[in-house]
Amino acid sequence: MSDNNILLDVQDLKMYFPITQGLIIQRHVGDIKAVDGISFSIKKGETLGLVGESGCGKSTTGRAILQLYRPTGGHVFFKGDDLTKLKGEALRRKRRQMQMIFQDPYASLNPRMTVGNIISEPLEVHNIYRTKAERQERVQELLRVVGLNPYFVNRYPHEFSGGQRQRIGVARALAVNPEFIVCDEPISALDVSIQAQIINLLEDLQAEFNLTYLFIAHDLSVVRHISDRVAVMYLGKLAELADRDELYNNPLHPYTQALLSAVPIPDPVIEEKRQRIILEGDVPSPANPPTGCNFSTRCPRVMDICKEVDPEFRDLGGDHWVACHLY
Ligand code: SF4
Repeated sequence: MSDNNILLDVQDLKMYFPITQGLIIQRHVGDIKAVDGISFSIKKGETLGLVGESGCGKSTTGRAILQLYRPTGGHVFFKGDDLTKLKGEALRRKRRQMQMIFQDPYASLNPRMTVGNIISEPLEVHNIYRTKAERQERVQELLRVVGLNPYFVNRYPHEFSGGQRQRIGVARALAVNPEFIVCDEPISALDVSIQAQIINLLEDLQAEFNLTYLFIAHDLSVVRHISDRVAVMYLGKLAELADRDELYNNPLHPYTQALLSAVPIPDPVIEEKRQRIILEGDVPSPANPPTGCNFSTRCPRVMDICKEVDPEFRDLGGDHWVACHLY
């Protein structure tokens, strides 16, 4: 961690979920390797987009970083401290600086709590304001910050639209003044017309509060606008990571090329010539990933070596990282 600008440094992160058999005596018969040895860092004030098909391990990565799941292996350095080594009060203090915005604003807000109570709950958990009046004032300020009427405090989640509920989720995440936020598919459950509003809100808040984001999404079109750099994940591993423009203009990994070929292009002339790369077959099970390159069962450019040797994830220069034997 020599670079002072790095806020989060993830090293060889692994998150395995055990598979057991037997009703009375449970035997460990294998593991679902949801995240299988990934490394990346995020600079202060940066947005790293993390993209991949559903089930590829991107949400698990976000949860393992925040220690909502305790990783099976590897390290997560946040401002120099290894979160995987922290427990109890020390971890709780760090967690206050790291929050999460969830995918589904319908499911992530308790329907029986008023908006005021939902937003002030983290303030109570972390003992931030002593009096109820101070907390109420902070809640009203947060509602204003996310573009909602501060007089909504006594309303319930069902009284709001999807976009408004996601704004409540954002206000709740902001309540404790975090530095880092994992945005776990925060717009995928929303109408297309509302998505841009939430992206703009997140960008405005980032500029105002100097926030750092890990922005998780399942397709490359969503993260293009908001990300500084983009990482592509497949079956628990990183396939490619590069500066946003570099990744979109010069995708190297066959999986990134396939994902990008599915993104519509606004220019109708170029759009007409766009050639889609259709991937054959299903994503293999993370309980039984292929040997060698984990993309070898679907890769249109697979070679003999790919089925035997797992390609190293390495920097080809200019901070453009790829795991593929073609390079
Ligand atoms: Fe395809 Fe081989 Fe590269 Fe894997 S290593 S992405 S199978 S070419």
